[in-house]
Amino acid sequence: MILHIPHAGTNTLGRNIEQFDIDYLTDWRTDELFNCEFATKLVFPISRFVCDVERFPDEYEEMFKIGQGICYTKGTRDNDIEVIDKEGILKIYDKWHLDLILLMNETLCYFSKIVLVDCHSFPDKEGYPDFCIGTTEQTPKELVDLVQDFLTDYDVKINYPYSGSIIPDKFVGNANVFPIMIEVNKKLYLNNEDDFNKIKIVINQLLGVIAEYEDSFE
Ligand SMILES: [Zn+2]
Repeated sequence: MILHIPHAGTNTLGRNIEQFDIDYLTDWRTDELFNCEFATKLVFPISRFVCDVERFPDEYEEMFKIGQGICYTKGTRDNDIEVIDKEGILKIYDKWHLDLILLMNETLCYFSKIVLVDCHSFPDKEGYPDFCIGTTEQTPKELVDLVQDFLTDYDVKINYPYSGSIIPDKFVGNANVFPIMIEVNKKLYLNNEDDFNKIKIVINQLLGVIAEYEDSFE
């Protein structure tokens, strides 16, 4: 299993990013929240406001049109963000994706199937669930059912308010790679340490169930 954690980073590489933006849209502490002894964890250290590794290249990215492609030019309150050294940022982006592909290739040398878990959190809004599970065409239904069955104490929605899950182009259509996104509502874990510890255990157990599923193919 691979845990891909793209939005926990707060390093702005010295860029002038408003604290409000960082506070609101960083997936705070997801690097601590998602743990599994059977997984390799990839934590992107740079703030999404400088380099968002979850975005597609500009020409294919819907969010690019509103200033939030790989390099954000707009903050969360329509404030402008100055992009410095876009070329250098794109190199960081490419290197990250190459590293992910190499790790997946390597993992497939040892395991017949990989679950690629895209790990996020999101700010609460009216009508938003506790957990949002994102899927792609190659996410097995059994895997989604397992996750939903495990989280019966929570309000879980599939592909709402966010949809999809990261999958490098090279592995689209590869029947040995199962992408799934797990997004946690920040209200569940960010208010106090007790909540945080509780959700950390829930997620650890959930990832254990996913690891068992992955193992069942061996
Ligand atoms: Zn995120």
